[in-house]
Formats: sequence, C-alpha cells, structure tokens
Amino acid sequence: MCQDIPVKRTFWILASLAALAAAVRSLRAQAPLPYRNPKLPVAQRVEDLLRRMTPREKAEMLAGAGWMESQANQRLGIPAIKMADGPMGVRNWAGSSAVTNSSGTKPVTATAFPAGIAMAAGWDPELVEREGRAIAQEVKALGRDMILGPTVNIQRVPLWGRNFEGYGEDPYLAARMGVAYVRGVQGEGVIPSIKHFAANNEEFERHRIDEAIGERALHEIYFPAFRAAVEEAGVWAVMSAYNKVNGHWCAENRFLLGDTLKQRWGFRGFVISDWGSTYSTAAAVNAGLDLEMPGGEPMRVWLNRPATREAGNGGGWLEADKVLAAISAGAVKQETVDDAVRRQLRVIFTAGLFDRPHSSGGEVDTAERRATAREAATKGMVLLKNANRVLPLDAAKMHSLAVIGPNAAVARTGGGGSSLVRPPYAVTPLAGIEERAAPQVRVRYALGAAMEGTEGGDAAASRAAREEAVTLARQSDTAVVVVGYAPALESEGFDRPSMDLPAGQDDLIQAVAAANPRTVVVVVAGAPVTMTRWIDRVPAVLFAWYGGQEAGHAIGDLLFGAANPSGKLPVTFPKEWKDSPAYGHYPGENLHTDYAEGIYVGYRGFDQHNVEPLFPFGHGLSYTDFEYSDLQVAPARVAAGEPVTVTMRLRNSGSRPGAEVVEVYLHQAQASEERPPKELKAFRRVTLAAGETQTVKLTLAPDAMSFYSAARHDWVREPGQFEVLAGSSSRDIRLRTSFELRR
Ligand code: BGC
Repeated sequence: MCQDIPVKRTFWILASLAALAAAVRSLRAQAPLPYRNPKLPVAQRVEDLLRRMTPREKAEMLAGAGWMESQANQRLGIPAIKMADGPMGVRNWAGSSAVTNSSGTKPVTATAFPAGIAMAAGWDPELVEREGRAIAQEVKALGRDMILGPTVNIQRVPLWGRNFEGYGEDPYLAARMGVAYVRGVQGEGVIPSIKHFAANNEEFERHRIDEAIGERALHEIYFPAFRAAVEEAGVWAVMSAYNKVNGHWCAENRFLLGDTLKQRWGFRGFVISDWGSTYSTAAAVNAGLDLEMPGGEPMRVWLNRPATREAGNGGGWLEADKVLAAISAGAVKQETVDDAVRRQLRVIFTAGLFDRPHSSGGEVDTAERRATAREAATKGMVLLKNANRVLPLDAAKMHSLAVIGPNAAVARTGGGGSSLVRPPYAVTPLAGIEERAAPQVRVRYALGAAMEGTEGGDAAASRAAREEAVTLARQSDTAVVVVGYAPALESEGFDRPSMDLPAGQDDLIQAVAAANPRTVVVVVAGAPVTMTRWIDRVPAVLFAWYGGQEAGHAIGDLLFGAANPSGKLPVTFPKEWKDSPAYGHYPGENLHTDYAEGIYVGYRGFDQHNVEPLFPFGHGLSYTDFEYSDLQVAPARVAAGEPVTVTMRLRNSGSRPGAEVVEVYLHQAQASEERPPKELKAFRRVTLAAGETQTVKLTLAPDAMSFYSAARHDWVREPGQFEVLAGSSSRDIRLRTSFELRR
C-alpha cells in the first residue's frame, strides 16, 4: 500500500503533463501563425510567411494570374492583388483597353475625375490628395485593391498621345501632384502604382523605341516625380515603362530599377511591369522587376494575337517554370526571387489586404465625390485670353446665346486608352451652359463641324453644318464654340500627327468669329493645340482639358462667373510644334530617339532659346486682379542645407473673390555647369476675397538649390547668388530678389 502512493502519484503527474501538453498543442493550433497575426510587425509577418513558402510558391508570385490579378496562394492564404486601371477614376479590369473600351463587356461605372493634366492645372495638392482618396474608396467599393496610377511622365512633346494623363512639363509640379495622389490612395489602404518608370514620353513605337537620355536630364526632369513618391510618400508600387532607356527595356533596366529606384532612393515597394513589356527572365528579375503583368491564360491569348505581336508587346517570361529554371541554371539567385516576394508581401500586409479583404458592393459616385470632381474640373480650367473682359457672360444682359461645335453637346470626360473611365452620367458643356443661362437667355445649339473621323465630315456636309452655325452665331448676342479632341483622336497607343485641331474646327472658329465678334472658344483637349489661325480673331479662350463627368457644370459656372477661373497652364503652349524644344528629336529614327534638348524641356527650353510661346507655362487669367508686393527672403545668406523662407504680399485688387497661384522660380547665374534661366521651386494657391490682402509664405527646400552633375554622378549645391522670381506665370514675373548660399 505504501508503495501504491508513489505509483499513483507518478500516474497522476504523467496524466496531468499529457493533458497540459495537449492543451498547449490545441492552443497553438488555435493561435494564429505569426504571419496571420495582425498584431505583429509587418516585417516579422513577412519573414515568417516567406520561411513557409516553397521555392515554387515563391516563383509563382513573380507573374500575374490573369489580366488584372496577381497570383493567390490558397495553401498559405495569400490573397491575389486585384487591380483596376486608373488614374482618373476606376476603370473596368475585364481585359485590355481595346476590349473594355468597347461596349461588349459588362460596364463598370465609377466617378470620372478630370484628367491628370487638368488636376495639375489646379496647382492644388490638397485637392489631388482628396481625389486620390475618393478614387481609392471606389477601388475598395468595387472589390479591388490596387489602382494603376498616377501617371507622372513629363510632357516632353506636345504630340504625345497620353499628355492628358500626366501632370505636365515641370518636374517639381509633377512631383507635388504625384505625392499628393499617392498619399490619398495609400491613406485608404489601396495600392497605387506610379507610372511609367521611366520616360514614357511618346506612344510612337512605344514597345521598341530606344531613348538616349543624359544622366542629368533623367535626374532633373524625368525622375523627380518618381523619386518624391518614393522618398516622401513611401509609394508601394512603381510600374515600369514600355520603352527602352539607354539601350535597355525599362522592365529589365538595372540602372533604373535596381541602381536608382531601389538602391539610390531606397524604394521598398514592388516593381510591376507595364502590360506586356518583358522580354527576358533572368535579365528582368536581376534588374529588379518584381511582378510581371498580365499573366495566366488571358496573357497567353492576348500575346498570341497578331495585333499584340505587331505592336511589339512581350510577356510570359516570369512564369514559375522559367524562373525556377533560371535559378537552377544559376542565372538568378534564390535571394533575388525572395526579395521580389518579400516586396509584394510587405505591401500586401501594409495595405491590410491580408487582414481586411476588400469586398465589392460599396457605393460609387457619391454626392461628395461628384462635388470633388466638379471642384477639380472648375479649378483646373484655364482662362487663356479675355480681351475687353468679354467674360464672364452676364445672363441679365443677354437674350440669346449660340452654343456651337463638335464638343458642345457631347461630354468628353477623358482621353482614350486604359485611363478612360465610364461614369454613370456626364454633363455636357451645352447642358452646363444651359443650366447657368436659364431662364433669361435663349440657348440654341449647332454642331458646326462633325468631329473628325465621324459621319458628316464630307465637304458638302461640312459646309452646310458650318453655315448653319454661322447663321445661328449671327442671330445671337454671343457665341460659344466648343472644339477640341476626342478619345479616338487623342489617346494612349498613338501620338497626334500634329498640334492642329481636328479637321474643320479652325475653319469653324474663324467663320463664327467673323459672324459674331463676341465669340468665346472653349477647347476640350489634353495638350496644346495650334491656335495661331484664329487666336487674334476671338476675344476669349477657355482651355477646359478633359474635365471628367462634371466638366459641363464647370464650363457653365466659369463662363457665367458663378466661379472665377483660377487654373494655370502646367505646360507651355507653343505657337507651333516646331517651336517645341523637342522638335527635331522626336520621334527618332530607326527606333532611336535622342533627347538632345537635355534638361531644356518645356519652359526651360523656351527661356533658354528665347522663343516666344503662345501662352507660357504657369499662365492663367482670372476675373479679378492680383497685386504682388514686398517680396522678402530669409535668411539673405543661407548656410548649406538650410531652407529659405520666401514671403510676399498678395492683394486681390479687383471686385470679385478669386484664387491666384503664386509661382516662385529660382535661377543661379554663376555655376560650374549651365543652369536654366528659371526653374519652378515653390507655389501656393491663395484664395482672396475682393480687396483682401494676405502675406503668402513659401519655403524653398535646400534641394531647390541643387543641380545634378553628370560628371560627379550626384546632386550638387554650389555656393553663390540665387535669384528669386515670384510671379503669376513663368513669363509674368512680378517681383525679384536674391539670396546667397554660403560656402
Ligand atoms: C498602359 C498602362 C496600363 C496598363 C493596364 C498599359 O497599356 O500603358 O498605363 O495601366 O496597360 O491596362
């Protein structure tokens, strides 16, 4: 019996231990694996998940699974990243632009915001951030995770088919806009994809063109918007471009992706290829491409189409078998693949996709988003000319108004290609004008000229349409002629053959202006158009860009003075194409194009070569007047690495409230390398009541003083005198002062 006790005790101890072990096991089974635990730091989750993946599972993540989805992993629960095109709103993701632009597919509707160029013309980063947020909310509402935008490629050539998507010709302005958009989108837990890295500045042979671009031009002109998105906004994804830069396709360009983006700027997100832009396995992976798109069956079907091959697309190179074979052959290191997977996982965790999947069924096109779209359209339209203050129109003093033109009764919300959004409704210029004119003014409409490429363009029909418009203009107090482009004529995929307005429109403007001296021209287009044939014959021109679904309201508001124009040109309007600094270096020969103008892009070139533009960069009129005074800089002698504060007084000396964009340019006359006559380095949109004065304060960051030296392969800040030019446009400098950068 006394021996019984220890046996029993041992038995009970063993039994309790076994029970405890079972309990621990079951607890463990219930506890989430570290990578599934939202409370753990992202880095820990990423590394834990990475450790659990097989080499094949890792390799699978380098190629997309469909047209707009990355590869999900069922075993580990890794979600696919579901993408949608942008950047001006959410676009259908069912297939290539050619497919989703046609009426064949089930339409996805979403709020159509103004084109990038119109957003840039508003010079309002806060508004762009709000737009980014609104778009991201719709991305989520539609069950997607990623928006393929913003486009920050610089407008080098006025003919580029995608000029409307980007933020214009100036790297500083484009950077401010890009950072704001990215912040807005990421703030909603949606992945943006800043594109196209780098220098997608022409559509001509976009899959084959090899661009020779100097190091200084890359760093000073074509890179800054990407760099700012990485360094200031910590952007989660960058899309590589189709073209070649200095001999290498962008998707396999080690200098761009590895050395610059990842090493130099410290990019921690993932690089996604543009759709069908890869031509190798090892070279692409080793260069720094992390995700090839599209993938799977849709990619194979598309790549097999003759048109795709003819265009020069490539793809299917980062499929798992090929990546694994490259690893076995020693051409790609496992750690390089790990890095690509790590980057994707980091974004998936950071965006919260693992923990909060986006499910469709949310609201799109809410009242708030419509209001944002209308505000953006209104702020971005640019009043180019307003002789004798013919605008704003006064409904109380008019009886009749003729609204004429191929873009009057149709809403052109955006340009063509992958960015074109299908809105649930869109306000035409005619409807917006009628709303403002009613009930006092009788508004009548005439087509005047059919849009080029549509029916009614033959000689007899054109003459008849023009005559009808002329008669109407003659019988009306005022005529508004709404001209411009259409998505079929200004689009991704091809460049415009010239800057001229489509056929018949110059003639129409001239004929109407001859019939009625109070003729106002409204241009709906994404880039500069030739105006020299008629600009001196019309008193007023409003450049409306592609203004999204609310553009018609904005046009009505601005023409009738319910809103005061405040947009400024984010791009120089040349008198003619041959005045552009890129003329002669575009589109190149034998698939090579030399960016011989170097850093002298846009106004930098017009200034350097003393070429008079039709309308300068930064130009835009208002219905009120602004007076600048008392420009000050502090300190007057600044130490290297210190910012400079610029202040001035701005007075609204007219009789209406309005907003002025104050532009501050810098110039360093004495430097070891040539510097442009002026460069935009700060701006501020200021709203003032009639008669109000404000002190406007801006900051010139230390970086504003530096230039990139190709000889030193680095940015340099050289001591000396800097001229500060403050004004209302790049050619309307109102005040000057200077400061000294000390040794
Ligand atoms: C365009 C990209 C777009 C992608 C997906 C490409 O042709 O260049 O901007 O995001 O297609 O539609």
